[in-house]
Amino acid sequence: MSSAASPTQTLAQIRENIARAAKKSGRSASDITLIGAAKSQSIATLQHFIAAGLTNIGDNYLDEALEKRPELAKAGVTWHYIGAIQSNKTKRIAESFDWVHTVDRLKIARRLASERRSEQPLNVCIQLNLDDEDQKAGISEADLPALIEAILELTSLRCRGLMLLPKPRSSESAQRAIFAQARDVLETNRQRFGIELDVLSMGMSGDYEAAILEGSTHIRLGTVLFGARSPR
Ligand SMILES: *Cc1c(COP(=O)(O)O)cnc(C)c1O
Repeated sequence: MSSAASPTQTLAQIRENIARAAKKSGRSASDITLIGAAKSQSIATLQHFIAAGLTNIGDNYLDEALEKRPELAKAGVTWHYIGAIQSNKTKRIAESFDWVHTVDRLKIARRLASERRSEQPLNVCIQLNLDDEDQKAGISEADLPALIEAILELTSLRCRGLMLLPKPRSSESAQRAIFAQARDVLETNRQRFGIELDVLSMGMSGDYEAAILEGSTHIRLGTVLFGARSPR
């Protein structure tokens, strides 16, 4: 993305790509939510993008997110937590976000639920790990049903679907294959529980079109939207 492009131009270009991929998958652009992955971006950058029409922002780092929040409070933004969750942060996450995409164990879900004070339930996605990398966050497909079942008991949480953060794949067919697998897991569990799981949070700068082709409803874009990140 050229650094000369304005936020308005960048957003327009990405929305065009989203619309094209959505159409190919038999959907419309309005079925896809674009979340700006804001880690290590300045408040000024975010303000420019919000002014240009960005309405959903995701953050990985709680302290950083809460620092930005007062500056952006009037903007009517929907806030998504997309980072790793430590137990000692659940209270502030439950109080400050509309969505959490990275729930992968019951202990964290229970804490978020008991610490959610808003009348509005907290929207949660369960982070699924289909790459079998032991060290990485996310629950296995085998352990998923038990976690969904437990979360359905927690009335201050609303279980929306799955989040996938796969390791990068270089070919589009390999990208599509892992996203298709996540879509199948969602469908299987939708049928198993007879509930409306309507969200697939998957797709980043390098693979969002492939993700949309396989049914993504929420894409999380950093680099391609805001430009390269400064090292943290
Ligand atoms: C950083 C990040 C993104 C965005 O990554 P890009 O490749 O810069 O688009 C999306 N999701 C999560 C969870 C992230 O940490």
